Amino acid sequence: MSTELNELFESNRRWAAEVEQREPGFFSRLLKQQTPQYLWIGCADSRVPANELVDLLPGDLFVHRNIANVVVPSDLNALSVIQYAVDALRVRHIIVVGHSNCGGVKAALNNLRVGLADNWLRHIQDVRNTHRAFLDHVPAERRVDALVELNVLEQARNVCRTTIVEDAWQRGQEVVIHGWVYGLHNGLLEDLRMTVAGIDDIEPAHARAVEAVQQRYLGDQASD
Ligand SMILES: [Zn+2]
Repeated sequence: MSTELNELFESNRRWAAEVEQREPGFFSRLLKQQTPQYLWIGCADSRVPANELVDLLPGDLFVHRNIANVVVPSDLNALSVIQYAVDALRVRHIIVVGHSNCGGVKAALNNLRVGLADNWLRHIQDVRNTHRAFLDHVPAERRVDALVELNVLEQARNVCRTTIVEDAWQRGQEVVIHGWVYGLHNGLLEDLRMTVAGIDDIEPAHARAVEAVQQRYLGDQASD
């Protein structure tokens, strides 16, 4: 086993050389400024690397990741990222991205004890409890993915309700909030169609998207 992780430095040098060869001057241009259009809020899971999934180079995506892509208004870390992205970088889109078979969501769904993270996952248990009646009707093997999607919608709504996004809308700044899921099994992103561009959109967009999730999961069950 390499204690110095030389293999990572080697791949890094290879990667930097490839990027520079493809786009000469790439790094010196980035040095001057970053102007990303997107803020990605995703899960910390190693299988869901933000830039790679959408094939974006450094400088294009501002990223915040935590276990199970949770956004709560008491989390100074997430709020600081959102504030800097909206106020300073002026990103045009904030995308909350969940992923299928998320371990954090699975633990929350099934009350699995994993340690300190249990307290973090309480936020997802709140989502589970809100949608308990629906989830009980979803076949057990699809329940995690159903809660993954509901969690994305809830966290996207939480982003909309931050004072940062509210204030941006209030002063006429354009910023659109989205909720997506990523399929670990096929590498594809899916839009859950909760697209919010202003304060009046929040509740209707959330309600429509939740209903679409319910229909998708229960509709499939009915046709089985
Ligand atoms: Zn996850």
